Amino acid sequence: MKRILVTGGAGFIGSHLCERLVNMGHDVICLDNYYTGSKENVWHLIGKPNFELVRHDVTQPYWAEVDEIYNLACPASPIHYQHDPIQTTKTAIFGIYHLMGLARRTHCKILHASTSEVYGDPAIHPQPETYWGNVNPIGIRSCYDEGKRCAETLAMDYHRLHGVRSKIIRIFNTYGPKMQAYDGRVITNFVVSALKGEDITIYGDGHQTRSFQYVDDLIEGMLRVMDTTDDFTGPINLGNPGEFSMLELAKLVLELTGSKSKLIFMPLPQDDPRQRKPDITLAKQKLGWEPKVPLREGLQRVIDYFKPRIVV
Ligand code: NAD
Ligand code: UDP
Repeated sequence: MKRILVTGGAGFIGSHLCERLVNMGHDVICLDNYYTGSKENVWHLIGKPNFELVRHDVTQPYWAEVDEIYNLACPASPIHYQHDPIQTTKTAIFGIYHLMGLARRTHCKILHASTSEVYGDPAIHPQPETYWGNVNPIGIRSCYDEGKRCAETLAMDYHRLHGVRSKIIRIFNTYGPKMQAYDGRVITNFVVSALKGEDITIYGDGHQTRSFQYVDDLIEGMLRVMDTTDDFTGPINLGNPGEFSMLELAKLVLELTGSKSKLIFMPLPQDDPRQRKPDITLAKQKLGWEPKVPLREGLQRVIDYFKPRIVV
């Protein structure tokens, strides 16, 4: 049994990770300031002897004796991270800075949740870890993209300078139950609109692409990365290489929900990447990992999750 700190543990991915770790018998500290997460996500874990919930903001130092840290604290949806961009940058940079200090003092492993956004609007397709990216440093997405890029820098410098056992994963668009219905991300927007019979909003012409990964696949990948040897820092891509345009996604959602919602077109947000697809060669080689849940199946699970929760 290990003592494991999960920052952002009450969020979408964090709550799935906490559940998995608690069920494996580990002693889990779920730390969150509830900026975008909620206690409801981990309600079922509260009261278990190997689960602890702590209200804390990672922009401030935190101390606990732990064996492993998963650093997930950071809003991930564009509308959330752009709501208070300065807080987003602080969360990304001060958060990893404080946690690296903790990892250094406790000699624990630390896995940092970075993102495919470090590739920006990529000029190389699909994106391997060796690609340095094409990121606007002063745009509306920069608080997130550059915050995450700088966090990777700190993770690597603490590793090189102080021997911290850093591990960086670059997560590609991930979806599943426990996402917030109105978090503005495309999967929830399309599914919720379809279930309510409201218009489905396509930004731009809908030809931009994303690769969608079901959350269970990601959690399995994260656990395998944490189990790699100390000399393995990554970065390593974790994503599903299946690539879909937003028009294709909208049509699939309509088909699976049987909805009569209309597709409407709205302006493309600034710096919206045109394409995104992970090269997962490294994950296959290093972890023996690849995603198992196809989009159609994962979407059906999300639809089944939201159906009873959406009041029409
Ligand atoms: P989420 O918004 O559901 O979860 C983030 C959690 O962090 C929330 O519970 C929030 O309250 C908490 N948080 C935010 N700021 C905090 C702070 N200052 N102190 C403490 N807690 C704070 O998002 P998610 O989709 O679960 O993403 C989790 C992590 O994975 C994030 O770091 C995100 O950047 C990364 N990621 C997610 C995706 C994705 O598609 N979901 C893709 C790439 C990277
Ligand atoms: N998008 C869309 N309609 C929506 C929400 C998003 O067409 O209602 C598009 C968005 O412009 C982007 C893609 O879907 O091209 C994915 O957006 P999301 O916010 O989910 O993630 P990210 O842009 O961070 O990959």
